[in-house]
Amino acid sequence: MSDLSADAVATEHPGAVPADGNPAAPGGGRTVGTAVPRSLVDRLAAGITATGVPSVVETVAPLTGERLAALPQSTPADVEVAFQLARRAQAAWAALPVRRRAGVLLRFHDLLLKRQDEVLDLVQAETGKARLHAFEELLAVAMAARHYGRAAQGYLKDRRRGGALPVLTHAVEARRPKGVIGHISPWNYPLELCVGDLLPAFVAGNAVVNKPDTQTALTGLWARELLIEAGLPADLWQVVIGDGPVIGPAVVEHADYVSFTGSTRTGREVAQRAAARLVGASLELGGKNAMLVLSDADLEAAAAGAVRACFSSAGQLCISIERLLVHRSVADRFLELFVARTRALRLGGGLAYGADMGSLVSVRQLDTTTRHVDEAVKAGATVLTGGRARPDLGPYFYEPTVLDGVTPEMAVCGEETFGPVVSVYRFDTEEEAVAAANSTPYGLNSSVWTRDLRRGRAVAARLRTGTVNVNEAYAAAYGSVAAPMGGMGDSGLGRRHGAEGILRFTEAQTVATQRMMPIAPSFGLDDKQFAAVMTGGLRVLKALRFK
Ligand code: NAD
Repeated sequence: MSDLSADAVATEHPGAVPADGNPAAPGGGRTVGTAVPRSLVDRLAAGITATGVPSVVETVAPLTGERLAALPQSTPADVEVAFQLARRAQAAWAALPVRRRAGVLLRFHDLLLKRQDEVLDLVQAETGKARLHAFEELLAVAMAARHYGRAAQGYLKDRRRGGALPVLTHAVEARRPKGVIGHISPWNYPLELCVGDLLPAFVAGNAVVNKPDTQTALTGLWARELLIEAGLPADLWQVVIGDGPVIGPAVVEHADYVSFTGSTRTGREVAQRAAARLVGASLELGGKNAMLVLSDADLEAAAAGAVRACFSSAGQLCISIERLLVHRSVADRFLELFVARTRALRLGGGLAYGADMGSLVSVRQLDTTTRHVDEAVKAGATVLTGGRARPDLGPYFYEPTVLDGVTPEMAVCGEETFGPVVSVYRFDTEEEAVAAANSTPYGLNSSVWTRDLRRGRAVAARLRTGTVNVNEAYAAAYGSVAAPMGGMGDSGLGRRHGAEGILRFTEAQTVATQRMMPIAPSFGLDDKQFAAVMTGGLRVLKALRFK
């Protein structure tokens, strides 16, 4: 393993430091090589289900572009083994009382907070994001662990329902685990989108076969170790790794339910495969999210919020804002504040707090970002700040970028960039702003800024997105883990968080017990008399307001 020094980045990736570019953050002095030593990689890789003599794929640290880990790849046969092991472990786990399973989540919560530095290093090493943004993931996971640890019993308990005949029919709705969940996750939030989504699945009594993105597999494997330390039976969470188009379909092929987070294109394929098997799927997909700055917004707060909205994790966040819709009367002042804040963001990849934005994850993300910006500029858009790569900082760094004058034929207008790029549009009426925000097949997240909270919530009701944040970028809705989060339209199906986020991992089962008389002619009544008695009974039930 080479010694990857964040401080050495400048020498590893020489390039002219632009005089007017974003400043570099202090490096912090610690190296990826010492934070993620070979011994740790080997220990974590032992958690992958890959038998025989597996082929190995190397990952790189985006901060420097140097080798990070060599990970064994699973085969479709390994996926089958993983499901067998998971299925065996699931039966005993499901037999435990919910309270015992919830206890694992609560212990995990405490361990995670205690050992946070270990996993923040891993998230940064695998994704290249700033430590603050890695911490946001940890925050989300801890909130989910606390919520489902405390609330699972309530979500999962048997519920008495009105029976077919009052008094005579006793009906109960019960929740049974699906069995083994196939969970496919992307690279951008490797802690939250891996373990965060799995916590409700486990507490509901399921096992999981998880296929994380190879680039960020170590983070999930670390979380698996921690959950095992908190009391999760080891076989309950199987990890398989490999080429998405090969191993992903193999996971869907065996799963009792599929939970997928990734691009809309892959999500459609996953949905089709799940549908062919008649198993359910939840799909958390892409977005082209809008932020609306209304004429009465607190512009300082909105500018600070827009920075978080657009550049957290270098824009590689499904709920980040790529379209800024600003009321014409405040646009100049807002842009002055926003562009100044954006230009001042400190870029860097040290394994310490201090950088405001880190690197993109890969050359693929850098290429898309560069293409979207360059094409737009060629077609007439203006760069208000940013608009270039920063090889002096690392191979995949790109400056936070604000574009003006973007028109519909430019890719950056309608396609998800998934990078640190936002386009500004002006509007005159609220009507126009709502129509513009909704003028996309996506429907994931949106953000509305106004001093009038009632007005903000009224605008929210007209936006076709699964979450709307009033006077916040995304964290208010995402962090409200007791409420559902997900996408409308091309942004997905189903929801994580809240009741939907756990009940999706269960089957509803109604257990109805009939007492004293059947729901059929009896007590000497013939068919006609039975029909007459029931007709009268139905009238009475409606009059008595029975539901
Ligand atoms: P992706 O669709 O390329 O990959 C996601 C996962 O699917 C990876 O593990 C990949 O290996 C696997 N995969 C690839 N081909 C597959 C196939 N044919 N069958 C099954 N699995 C397959 O997405 P990505 O580029 O890794 O992630 C970025 C995308 O994810 C963005 O569009 C982003 O908006 C979206 N995303 C959405 C959310 C959300 O909550 N809505 C969260 C994070 C990311």
